[in-house]
Amino acid sequence: MSDKDLIDLKEVAPAEVGEVDLYQRRERIYTRKVEGFFQKVRLYTGWPLLLGYYLMPWLTWDGRQAILFDLPERKFHILGLTFWPQDFPMLAFLLIIAAYMLFAVTTFAGRIWCGYTCPQTVWTTMFMWWEQKTEGSRNQRMKLDKAPMSMEKFRKKCLKHSGWLFIGFATGVTFVGYFYGIRELLVDLFAGTAGAWAYFWTQFFTFATYINAGWMREQVCMYMCPYARFQSVMFDQDTLIVSYDKARGEARGSRKKTADPKELGLGDCIDCELCVQVCPTGIDIRNGLQYECIGCALCIDACDSVMEKMDYDKGLVRYTSERELNGEGKTHWLRPRIIGYVVVLAVMFGAFGYNMLYRVPLELTIIRDRNQLFVTTDTGAIDNIYTLQLANMSPEMHEFTLSIDGLENAEIIGDRMHTLDGEEIRSISLRVRMMPEDLDKPSTAFNFEAQASDREDLRIVHETRFVKPL
Ligand code: SF4
Ligand code: SF4
Repeated sequence: MSDKDLIDLKEVAPAEVGEVDLYQRRERIYTRKVEGFFQKVRLYTGWPLLLGYYLMPWLTWDGRQAILFDLPERKFHILGLTFWPQDFPMLAFLLIIAAYMLFAVTTFAGRIWCGYTCPQTVWTTMFMWWEQKTEGSRNQRMKLDKAPMSMEKFRKKCLKHSGWLFIGFATGVTFVGYFYGIRELLVDLFAGTAGAWAYFWTQFFTFATYINAGWMREQVCMYMCPYARFQSVMFDQDTLIVSYDKARGEARGSRKKTADPKELGLGDCIDCELCVQVCPTGIDIRNGLQYECIGCALCIDACDSVMEKMDYDKGLVRYTSERELNGEGKTHWLRPRIIGYVVVLAVMFGAFGYNMLYRVPLELTIIRDRNQLFVTTDTGAIDNIYTLQLANMSPEMHEFTLSIDGLENAEIIGDRMHTLDGEEIRSISLRVRMMPEDLDKPSTAFNFEAQASDREDLRIVHETRFVKPL
């Protein structure tokens, strides 16, 4: 299909689009292909994301998969960093930062996340691309669906659904590969030796992708996505939104290219409805801002191509703000709300970076013997028994020395020196012995300390208590 075919005005038939009712029967949307500046931007945002998603599990880092969420071992390996369960608050903090960034971007530029980078949009675009490859243009697809079943129709439908299932399978396998290890998963899946859950989740994500991007499409954005429901509260008068310039476009009406719209009493909108026919959610942007609009800018490219053909200025449908549309002056890019977001994000990033930089990859958990608070020895000394769980969260092997602090004249019974491999957790049983006359309270707080012999900063201190008979 040539560029000309994409926007041939003669071919344009008005789309049947009405008000969207929450309970109405779904009208199948046949989107028209469109090309233009914003579609190029989408290409440059979508492809790197897709490639990143599909290729990342194949990369190795320090001899293991670069991103691996190892649930049985309860460790997340992300580009050379290993996150342990103890680090989950940091991961949660990272997610909070990501959410906050999303809010900031939405306040500034509306739903650009939805339109360009949301997986639902990216995968749907990929599915639509394959649909157009196998079933043809919008008009050809509409004709095909209306036609009775034939060998040709069957062949095209089979090809389309096989392609969709293949993309769904690649997506599902990749997703599970982030948790299982992609190389092992592929071997195990085809050898029939993968666990039941691996088969289940691979199939689940294959069909979820197929159904979401192939069949449900805009329904996910309109009825299922929680973010679509509350993001309008982040909008203000200066938020960039895809809008139709009513003042310039009205009154709409068809005319010859050579006609002077002013003489006909018309605005710049030629009422071709191309903006409607390209819209993946099937709305008419000329009815104003609607929550179904995902900000994909397909209508901008469509309208710009029409304006170009008509020799009118582009931008009848464009990214603009409510302030500019209402003629209240220029958009305020730098406003207190945006500055506030930037400052808070900078603080959050700073705190996260500091924590990552100065994080001690060592964890010490102390469990007291629950059966006996203390043991009295033949010599009259009192023993308390502890189980120490020492986790060397660094990738290198280290030798650690265990010591105590805060108990005068205490003696440690058990091994004090321990060599732990990289990412090893070891349970160490120890007794602490005290003479009763050295203790003035029934329960005394003290610290266990683990110190690496080759790295001064690899040190952890944990408080516990020593108990004596009353
Ligand atoms: S109205 Fe325009 S920007 Fe909004 S979803 Fe439809 S095509 Fe995309
Ligand atoms: S806004 Fe642009 S694309 Fe939409 S109907 Fe008017 S001229 Fe056509």
